[in-house]
Amino acid sequence: MSNVEQTLSIIKPDAVERNLHEQIKNNFIENGFDIKNEKKIKISKSEAEEFYKVHQSKPFYDELCNYLSSGPIVVMILERENAVTENRKLMGATDPTKAEEGTLRKKYGISIDKNSVHGSDSIENAKIEIDFFFKS
Ligand code: UDP
Ligand code: MG
Repeated sequence: MSNVEQTLSIIKPDAVERNLHEQIKNNFIENGFDIKNEKKIKISKSEAEEFYKVHQSKPFYDELCNYLSSGPIVVMILERENAVTENRKLMGATDPTKAEEGTLRKKYGISIDKNSVHGSDSIENAKIEIDFFFKS
């Protein structure tokens, strides 16, 4: 039974700044994801606050929102079977020092905050996050 899903991926400012976005996109393609839509944008602090509002009680929230709005990002709709779970697997652990060999955060991440990629953590959040960036 086919279980094709969509998820939202963000290539974060640290990776775009180092010109890694084409390389990271190739990782997605090589791992069976179709990039259904993509755009390079820069968001405002208040947009970052809205996007990350689930984290508003966390001590790192303000820094996180400053960071995501600090420079260009690439946002993408990724599609494949079990896209949400498969993307989280490909990304690796939040902290690059704890991420498995071969994962994007292990390969490209600098630190727990500058960890190069975001990926939706559930099908429900994927829909919300895709709408956030791509609903006209
Ligand atoms: N983050 C951070 N410090 C922490 C935990 C998280 O700066 O101690 C940042 C990090 O960039 C992470 C984002 O907040 O990607 C969202 O955190 P979450 O726990 O949702 O991790 P993710 O789903 O991105 O793996
Ligand atoms: Mg998360």
